[in-house]
Amino acid sequence: MSTLLQIHEPGETPAPHEAERGIAIGIDLGTTNSVAAIAEQGKPEILRDDHGDGLLPSIVAYTGAEPIVGRAAAEEQTRHPELVVASVKRLMGRGAADIKALSGTVPYEIHGDQQVGMVRLKVGNRVLSPVEVSADILRAIKARAEATLGQPVERAVVTVPAYFDDAARAATKDAAKLAGIEVLRLVNEPTAAALAYGLDHGAEGLYAVYDLGGGTFDISLLRLQQGVFQVLSTGGDAALGGDDFDHAIAEFVLREAGVQAPSLIDAKTLLVAARSAKEALTAAPKAELTFHINGKEIRQSVDLAKFESLIEPMVARTLRACRQVLEDAEVTAPEVKGVVLVGGSTRVPLVRRMVAKFFGRAPLSDINPDEVVAAGAALQAEALTRGGDTLLLDVIPLSLGIETVGGIVEKVIDRNTVIPVAKAQEFTTYQDGQTGMQIHIVQGERETVDACRSLGRFELTGIPPMAAGAARIRITFAVDADGLLTVSAQEKTTGVKAEIAVKPSYGLDEDEMADMLRDSLTHAREDMERRLLIEARVEAERMLLALDAALKSDGDLIRPSERAGIDAASGKVRAAMAGEDRDRIGAAVEALEKASHPFAQARMDRAMESALKGHSLDEVEASMATDRAE
Ligand code: ADP
Ligand code: MG
Repeated sequence: MSTLLQIHEPGETPAPHEAERGIAIGIDLGTTNSVAAIAEQGKPEILRDDHGDGLLPSIVAYTGAEPIVGRAAAEEQTRHPELVVASVKRLMGRGAADIKALSGTVPYEIHGDQQVGMVRLKVGNRVLSPVEVSADILRAIKARAEATLGQPVERAVVTVPAYFDDAARAATKDAAKLAGIEVLRLVNEPTAAALAYGLDHGAEGLYAVYDLGGGTFDISLLRLQQGVFQVLSTGGDAALGGDDFDHAIAEFVLREAGVQAPSLIDAKTLLVAARSAKEALTAAPKAELTFHINGKEIRQSVDLAKFESLIEPMVARTLRACRQVLEDAEVTAPEVKGVVLVGGSTRVPLVRRMVAKFFGRAPLSDINPDEVVAAGAALQAEALTRGGDTLLLDVIPLSLGIETVGGIVEKVIDRNTVIPVAKAQEFTTYQDGQTGMQIHIVQGERETVDACRSLGRFELTGIPPMAAGAARIRITFAVDADGLLTVSAQEKTTGVKAEIAVKPSYGLDEDEMADMLRDSLTHAREDMERRLLIEARVEAERMLLALDAALKSDGDLIRPSERAGIDAASGKVRAAMAGEDRDRIGAAVEALEKASHPFAQARMDRAMESALKGHSLDEVEASMATDRAE
């Protein structure tokens, strides 16, 4: 490829986005809840719906022609769990390669798309990308904001977790674009929370942001210097949050009541009751739960002491992550000047006590923890549009560089560099007469290309043949205010130039974006049909394989007559798969689903039974989700 010749230090910095006129809001696009806010003269206000609700559950139900978002979608979860998508944020920017780690953590089917490398969800008969689902949430947030403000809202500052990589950030921007929102800037969630508390006007130093939401825990350590927040280190647990508190309560009351094996629907309603009880325990010493198991009404109560003993180990886990983050940044708890609480689950008094004890200081908690990120985003939106006093700068989360000889990474921009930024380095050819150069852009902290993430490649051609080392190729990396990268290369003696805007491989490409923006249903119908047919076959094949495996392990659960029915239905699926008729495959699969339903139910009960003997409801849900997929 290329050898490194010399390094040119910082090049020119492109001007930040120009402030324009018009209204702009802040949006916290959360895993569990999304929130919008607007700031006027430095005072943020949460945009609420008619019921005074600021939080819009980030849940989308695809039960009808139009997607349903929010509380109504959450209710559909107990009726049509298979048509409801929750926690889609976990999939943003994820590719086929990342899915393995994720399957089982989300209750719907996910698969990679070979062409784009992006994860797809199969929901009923729709195939959706996480970007499209997020766009549906953003559309709902936009509509709410417009209804409250009585005017169109077209621009926003949108927040993302500090650890989001380029792909996830690009995916978030794509979602906004799809929803008709121009993203003024993407801002890190912990940075937004710190802004909401006005820490940018306060003392310089270290701040910790402790964010315990519905399904994730994030701890970020920020350094404030000259009005700029730098993310020093981040850590956390992507599978720990308020949902786990709900599960703990649910398991406890099931044990207390001595009941077993709730069906999927009963389990969902139980979790809803557990969540209400948990939230009530923030203000009361005791909470009552009423739920149904197999049609029977059950009442149980949980007191605060019991609840705290159930969740104490989980809170302790978050503190271990806090310790790790401090260690990574080589600082100690007393050096932290302030601790900000973010996320609805930090309302739990035990969480507050344990965090306070860990850091040796009372955390900042005056602003509603589930609204604080949106409030900060709104302040940022105001600063960007009305030219407030500070123009907050953000930093890039991961180093960016290129591959050089031997698969070694040469970093061009180091992580935590304040953006927008542009930097250039000079490279040269390593072979006599070399006329082209492959430029491979990578992201990450490791030294070898294998250990980093590949962002894209392009080629600089037309270099005049010269002796090795004589050509002077200047490679410039420019990261705009949203953290998105453009790389260009220029041979200096001849001026030949090549450039790419790095569309991370998991983002949408321009064509796909355009397609979606047009009416995607009428466009390229044929291609779509073809793909759906292939997918239907793959689906059917998967179902047959899963069923086979299930029959092998749990075949003892069914009677011979049922078995015969299943076998006949399987045969019909196989026959349909050989043909070209997608609907026929679908119908055969549905019939097979019906025929094997009692079997699936029996397996679910067995799984529940064994799971409740010492496993968490989470695993049970995961296994039920698999059963559903089967
Ligand atoms: P996310 O950042 O994941 O989108 P939120 O910050 O909105 O989520 O947090 C949602 C979580 O906060 C849920 O688990 C919810 O039950 C929990 N929560 C909200 N209010 C309370 C409360 N009063 N007591 C305990 N937990 C609460
Ligand atoms: Mg959040």
